[in-house]
This record gives sequence, structure tokens and C-alpha cells, in this order.
Amino acid sequence: MKKQVAIIGAGYAGLRAIEHLASDDRLCITLFDENPYHYLQTEAYGYIAGRFDLHDVALDLKNWCHGFKRPVTFVQERVTYIRSRTQEIETESGTHPYDYLIIATGARTNFFSFIEGLDRYGFGVKKLFRSHRFRTAFEALLYEKVEQRPSEASRVYNLAIGGAGLSGVEIAAEMADVIKRHTKSIGEAAKELHIHLIDASATILPGMSDYIITHTDKRLTSLGIHIRTNAFIERVDASTIHFKDGSRLDYTFMIFTGGIIANRIDSDLDAASNRIGQYAPDATLRLAPNVFTVGDCAELKDASGKLLPPTAQTAERSAEYAAYAIGQDIAGRAVRPYRGTVDGVFVALGGRYAVGELFGVIRVRGYLAYLLKKVITKSYYLGLKLRLNTGFKKRTATGEAL
Ligand SMILES: Cc1cc2nc3c(=O)[nH]c(=O)nc-3n(C[C@H](O)[C@H](O)[C@H](O)COP(=O)(O)OP(=O)(O)OC[C@H]3O[C@@H](n4cnc5c(N)ncnc54)[C@H](O)[C@@H]3O)c2cc1C
Repeated sequence: MKKQVAIIGAGYAGLRAIEHLASDDRLCITLFDENPYHYLQTEAYGYIAGRFDLHDVALDLKNWCHGFKRPVTFVQERVTYIRSRTQEIETESGTHPYDYLIIATGARTNFFSFIEGLDRYGFGVKKLFRSHRFRTAFEALLYEKVEQRPSEASRVYNLAIGGAGLSGVEIAAEMADVIKRHTKSIGEAAKELHIHLIDASATILPGMSDYIITHTDKRLTSLGIHIRTNAFIERVDASTIHFKDGSRLDYTFMIFTGGIIANRIDSDLDAASNRIGQYAPDATLRLAPNVFTVGDCAELKDASGKLLPPTAQTAERSAEYAAYAIGQDIAGRAVRPYRGTVDGVFVALGGRYAVGELFGVIRVRGYLAYLLKKVITKSYYLGLKLRLNTGFKKRTATGEAL
């Protein structure tokens, strides 16, 4: 009898787990996600700034699942409960049994409740519809500047980004680069869009190496971004950000990327969690003998016990491990513990510029770093696209309703 593997979440972790499990003919795989698409969050900065289009950041999951040689079932539904005692998951429409379960539900923006007004007035980018709303708003401001007559009084718009981690920095840089590059075509009025990058830490990109921080800082400054560190946001209202030190910033749009909180599912699992709601699995990424958790929704550590950053890279590696552990379990073999590593980090800094570090020793910046980052993201995208095309062709050939 085939083993039923259920995977909740079609993000970087969920899809990578399937890539590693789908050729195993002992398994029957079902993927659950509330959305019909895989959202490439790592490319959100380019989508918001208008560099990428919708098809660059959203890929159809039905077509992708059909792209495998062996069937992978996609269920577009939100999972509402995990009943580990009877090995079932519940969705809005029914109950689905499993032999192995991988929870890969990712995380969402943490609009800290102690910052009054943040959830009401801030945009997040962890969901496609939120990125889309910000893209539309940004485009509307650019449009307004195109239309601005010389006789009109100049009007400065402040675009605020709360959180100078990887995502905040990349979004700020890409928007600033668009404004800078397009001043030629849009005109001088484009310069009246000011980008403000705000963080409560003493530095941008807290936790990253001095090399990355220094060169990112230089690049952001050269793009005209106003960087504000040690800045604690106390309250946000419809037009003003109020800081703890009494200062204020009047803003037009605000994105918040300052923290995440895990997407957890109600369950009868005896699963501990950390302060940002991430599941705390054992050394083999299990919450129960046949329940694994991977990606942003899990607290993952390296061999020395240090927390790993919630990145696509970590999500993929942990998913590969869960797939390996399931294979070993079915074969009755022991598993080695999960040992996460960070191979490198590349920060896209607007246009054809990036800063990166590989294995802690290779350091690159500028166009070369941009090319390396592009190779990484493009190969990920092309891998998905190949499967998507195969799936689409198969569905068309069999006459399945698209
Ligand atoms: C702007 C930006 C830039 C970034 N840049 C980088 C980068 O350069 N490099 C890098 O490595 N990382 C980067 N990241 C981080 C990276 O995107 C995340 O770490 C990664 O998406 C985590 O993958 P995941 O599979 O764990 O979760 P996600 O990709 O968030 O996927 C989770 C999935 O689970 C689904 N889901 C959740 N709950 C349920 C439920 N109850 N039922 C059904 N489905 C559910 C969601 O719909 C979603 O599809 C960036 C993030 C952002 C926002």
C-alpha cells in the first residue's frame, strides 16, 4: 500500500519537498494551499517597483503539480485543523488522511500590536495581494509625477519602509533605483518621491556581516534613501509616523517588514512554539513521529544550536531534509539529525547592483554580485517554469478543464 504524504503550504519549502519526493513510487502526494499560485516572495521587491510582472512572481500550482511524471494532487483549500491522533487534516470541505505530514505554512508580517495603527496603515509584502496593492500605489504616485505641470507647486511624497532587514532593504533600493533611473523620462518631479528606511536597531540588516552592512549602506545612501536607525515607531496614524523620541514623519505610503509571525494551524499536536509562533521541532524536524515542520513556520537551527534566519534557502534545505527523513523512515533506516547551514546571502540593491557573500569568505558587490544573484533566482524560476509548461501541455492534451 502506498503511503499518503500531505504537504501543507506551497511556498519554497512545500515545493522543494515535492521535488524530492515525487519520484518515489511508494508515495501518494497531496499538496494543500489556500492560494492557487506559488508566490515568489523573494522577487517581491522587483514586482513592487515595477521591474517584474505578475507572471514573474506567481505560478499556477495546478499546472505545476501536473508537470511531474507521477501524479501529485493539488487541493486549493485552507487547512484548518491537524488531528494527529487519527492522522487526518481538516479543510473547509472535508477530512484528508495522511501517513506522513509536512507542515510548511510559512509566516506572515507581524504588525506588532504594541505599535498602535501599524496593522491599519502599514502594507505587508508576505502576501501577493498586499504587494500588488503597494505596487499599484507606487505606480499611481509615479503617474502623478508624470502628469505634474511645471506651474504646479512641488509636492513631496514620503514612502516609508519600516524594517531594514533583507526585504525592507531590497524594496527600498529597487524603488529608489526606479525613481533615479526614470527621472530622465518622468522628469525632475520624480525626485519628489522620497524613500525612508526605518529600523529600531542600531544598524540596517541587523545580524549580517560588516561587509554586507557597509556596502549596502553606501549603496542605499547613493540612491538617495533616507536611512533612520535606532528609530522606534510608537504609533502610526493615517498620515504620520510617530517615533518614541518625539520626532515624526509625514508619509504617503508605508510598508512594514519589521518582523514575521508563523502561520500555525490548530491541532491536537503537543507542539511547543517560540515567541514568534514558530513550531519548535526536534533534531529531526519532527513534531510527532510522522509529522515534520519546515521553512519559515519552524524554528530551525544550525549544528551549533544557533537560530537560522527565515529565508527561502533555509526553507528549501529543511524541506529536502524532511523528504530524506521520510524516505529513510519508510525503508526502516535511521536518520542523521538536521544540520542547517547558511551558504551565502545576496542582497539586491536596485538595478544591476547587489552585494553578496558566499560561505563567509567569498565577497562580491556590484554587477558581478547582481549576476550571481540573478543566476540563483533565474535557475529557481526556470526549474518551476519547465514543470509548469509540462503540466500545462499535459492538461491541454488530456482535455482537462483549465
Ligand atoms: C521582499 C522579500 C524578499 C526576500 N528576499 C529573500 C532572499 O533574497 N533570499 C532568501 O533566501 N529569502 C528571502 N526572503 C524570505 C523568503 O521569501 C521566505 O523565507 C520564504 O518564502 C519561506 O518559504 P516557506 O515555504 O517557509 O513559506 P512561504 O513561502 O511563505 O509559503 C507558505 C505557504 O503556505 C500557505 N499556507 C499558510 N497557511 C496555510 C493553511 N492553513 N492552509 C493552506 N495553506 C497555507 C501560504 O498560502 C503559502 O503559499 C524574502 C522575503 C520577502 C518578503
